[in-house]
Amino acid sequence: MADLLVPGDVVRQRWKIDKKIGGGGFGEIYGALDLVTKDSVALKVESVNQSKQVLKMEVAVLKKLQGCSHVCKFVSCGRNENFNYLVMSLQASNLAELRRSQPKGVFSQSTMLRLGFQILRSIRAMHEAGFLHRDIKPSNFAMGSSTDTFHSCFMLDFGLARQFTKGNGEVRPARGSAGFRGTVRYASINAHENKEMGRQDDLWSFFYMMAEFAIGHLPWRKMKDKEQVGKMKKAYDHHLFLKSLPPGFKQFLDHISKLNYEDKPDYKMLISIVEKAIAKKTIKESDPFDWEKM
Ligand code: ADP
Repeated sequence: MADLLVPGDVVRQRWKIDKKIGGGGFGEIYGALDLVTKDSVALKVESVNQSKQVLKMEVAVLKKLQGCSHVCKFVSCGRNENFNYLVMSLQASNLAELRRSQPKGVFSQSTMLRLGFQILRSIRAMHEAGFLHRDIKPSNFAMGSSTDTFHSCFMLDFGLARQFTKGNGEVRPARGSAGFRGTVRYASINAHENKEMGRQDDLWSFFYMMAEFAIGHLPWRKMKDKEQVGKMKKAYDHHLFLKSLPPGFKQFLDHISKLNYEDKPDYKMLISIVEKAIAKKTIKESDPFDWEKM
């Protein structure tokens, strides 16, 4: 399908398209210049002809999360006869690109743990706002692009988010069966089984991400079929990942293994596991990340 925008196009007389920077499942992402503020921005656009419209949801969630420091700044949104669009702050490379750019395809423990700490806090913030992300994976996190944010990691893509609380803050009842959402490689076993996803499923995806950062790949990396990957995950002894992760991650794995849909994860404990591992390795916040050393 042809791109919805080309370099040089100007949206609503204000955002001048520079280049396409992503084309994911549901939309296209462009880097653009805000002709009013002169800021660099990102435009996410979705064709009005697309059967599955997710941008509205994404805008709603992004607006709700504006207090969170690990979320893109909302600039604007709107629609024309061809597409719906969302304008937000522009970040730099995503974590999938950064990992692949490393000579061995892995991150050092210093980089992995500092990213993990920020990511875990952004997951907690999202859950505290009443939403599940449901597509936690390295390409949905990007580093900041400005001098004050280049060491900050931002959570992207709320297209698959779901509110898991009711108006009064109680957890919504689980549906007996729900369609699969997310990305096969990072999906929890629960998600493979089409069960209603809960807070623990975002944490499972986080755990798989950390393992991939440390090892360079996940055991099911070559499999495409969702059912096959689900079977392999069920049979796999997840404690094998612990050989490549700091000791505290056993407690992390044990905790998320015990959680059911209604259960509130112990975020404080999980974050402190990562914090303690950072302290033990005498990692400094100001240390360069792996990609800054090359
Ligand atoms: P989709 O929902 O279509 O998969 P995403 O929101 O996941 O789209 O974005 C796809 C890719 O585009 C991301 O992996 C990231 O590299 C890039 N991207 C998305 N939003 C931004 C942003 N605000 N700044 C910089 N890059 C972004």
